[in-house]
Amino acid sequence: MIFHGDKLEHHDTPIHDFLMKRYEMHHENDPDNMAFTTAEDENDSLTYGQLQKKIIQISEWFLENGYKKGDVVLLASYNNWRCFAAALGAWRAGLVVSAASSQFTPYEMRYQIEDSQSQLIFADSHTLPTVLEASKGLSFVKHIISISANPPSPVIQFDILTSRLIRNLRMPKIDPANDLVFLPYSSGTTGKPKGVMITHLNFSMMMVSCIRFADDIARSFGLPENFVFPYDLHFLPLYHVMGMFRALLNSYRGSTQIMFTKFDMELMLQSIEKYSIAMLSMVPAIAVRMVNSPLLKKYDISSLNTISCGSAPLPEGAVQKLRQIIPELRIVQGYGMTELTFATHMQKPESPDGSVGRLIPGTSMKVKKEDGTLCGPHEVGELWIKGPQMMKGYWKKENLLKELVDEDGYMRTGDIVYFDKNGDTFICDRIKELIKVNAKQVAPAELESVILEHDDVADVCVFGVDDASSGERPVACVVSKGGKRDMETMKAIMKHINQKLARYKHIKEIEFVGEILRTGTGKILRRTMKKAFLDSRKSR
Ligand code: AMP
Repeated sequence: MIFHGDKLEHHDTPIHDFLMKRYEMHHENDPDNMAFTTAEDENDSLTYGQLQKKIIQISEWFLENGYKKGDVVLLASYNNWRCFAAALGAWRAGLVVSAASSQFTPYEMRYQIEDSQSQLIFADSHTLPTVLEASKGLSFVKHIISISANPPSPVIQFDILTSRLIRNLRMPKIDPANDLVFLPYSSGTTGKPKGVMITHLNFSMMMVSCIRFADDIARSFGLPENFVFPYDLHFLPLYHVMGMFRALLNSYRGSTQIMFTKFDMELMLQSIEKYSIAMLSMVPAIAVRMVNSPLLKKYDISSLNTISCGSAPLPEGAVQKLRQIIPELRIVQGYGMTELTFATHMQKPESPDGSVGRLIPGTSMKVKKEDGTLCGPHEVGELWIKGPQMMKGYWKKENLLKELVDEDGYMRTGDIVYFDKNGDTFICDRIKELIKVNAKQVAPAELESVILEHDDVADVCVFGVDDASSGERPVACVVSKGGKRDMETMKAIMKHINQKLARYKHIKEIEFVGEILRTGTGKILRRTMKKAFLDSRKSR
C-alpha cells in the first residue's frame, strides 16, 4: 500500500525572494513589527524593515568581497538573529550556507570547514576560539566574522557588513531546483557526518507544504486563515534543519521571534508568561526536562495550548505529565530527517496519541518488509519517502543517494514504522546506525574512528542504548590491545574521546570484549553487538 499526502502546487521561487516579499509586506502592515528580539537582551531587536535592509547589505558585501555563486559560508555560532540575516544575505548573493554545532571542538569544526570548503565563517565570542584554532593553516578560509563586539584582528565585526550604503547590485540568477541553499551535516543511514545538499526548491516546497498543513489545522480549530502567533520562542539551534526551517517559517508568518542564544529553562518559562505564548516548538529532551522542572511552579504558563515536538521519540510519560500540568494541552508530534528538509509527517487533530501523524502535502510513503514487499496497515517495516523535500544528495558524495533511492524514487529512512488505515504513522525502531542524544545526531562511525586512534584499542563498535534523560546514550564495545581490561585503560580511552568531541558525544560506558562481530564483507554487526551487550547487562 502506498500513501500520498494532499496534492501540492509547484513552487520554485528562490527562498530569499519568497521571504523578502513577505518581509516587505509585514513592514508595510506594521513598521514597528519586530522580526527578532534576543531573549537574553530585549534591547537587541530589529523590525522586519530593518531585517530586510540588513539582508540586502550583507548580500552586497559578499559580492563586493569577491564571493561567487556556489561558494560556501559556515554559521558556527550560538543562535542569534545576525546569523539568520547572514544566511538570507548569503542566499541572496547565491551562496550556500553550511552550519555547525556551537558545541563543536576544534577537531569537529575543522572536519566540517574542510569538508564543506567554507570560505567564510560566522562565529560569536563563545565559538571564536574554536573557529580560529580549527581554521589554522586553511588558506581557502578568506574571512572570519564575529557577531560579538570587539573581535581580535583580523576577525571582522558583523556590523561592518551592515553599515554600508545599498548600491542595488545585480544579484546572481538562481536555478531553484539545482542551486544549493543549506548544507547541514548528517550521518544519514551510515558512516560519518556528511553535507546534506538542500536546494531552494526543497525549502520553498517545504514552506508551501507546511503552510498548507498548518492552515488546514488552524481551520479545523475554527481559527482564521493565515492565523499568526504574535510571538514565537525560538530555541531550536539554527544549525539543525528543524531550527533553521522553523525560523524561516515564522518569519514568513510575521511573528516576532524571541531568539534564545542558548536554551535556558527558567528563561523559557519566564518568556511563556511574559509573552503569553500559546504554541511552543521543542524537542523531546526539553519536554522531559520541563515536566520535571521545579521551576514550573514559579511561572504562569496557562497561556500555552499547543506543543509541537519532533526529531526524536517523545516518551509517553512526558506526554502524560504535560497533560497533568495543562489539561487542555495539544501535543503535536512530527517526524522527518535532515535529508528530507526537516519534515514528512505531522499530527492532525484527529491523529492518535503516540503517532507522528500523517503525510504533509506533496509527500508519499511506502513501508517495506525485509523482502521488499509493501506493508499494509499495522504491518511493521522500513519507511520510504518520496517528495519535493528530498535532498539533492550528499555533498561531494553524489553516488550515495542512488544507493538510498528505489526504482520509483522513494528514499529509505532507516526507521521502522507501521501505519493505520488513515495513514497515521507510528515510529517503532531505528535500524540505521544513528544515535540521537538529546535529539542531536551522534554518528557511531565518527566515535569509532576517534576511539581507534587510541594506542590501546585494537577494534571497536559503538551503538546507542536507551537513556531516561537524553533519549539515548552511546556505548562502546572495545577490543583492547594485549587484552587490557583495567579501569585505567578505560579512563584513558574516555579522556581521549572527551578531548576530541563535543560533550553530547562523550561515552560514559565502555565494555571490553574479546571480538567485534562482523559480516563476511567486514561490516560491523552492530545490532548483534548491542543485543549481546544488553543481555550481558541483564544477566549481571
Ligand atoms: P535528523 O536528521 O537529525 O532530524 O534525524 C532524523 C531521525 O530522527 C529520523 O530518521 C528518526 O530516526 C528520528 N526522528 C525524527 N523525528 C522523530 C519522531 N517524532 N519520533 C521518533 N524518531 C524521530
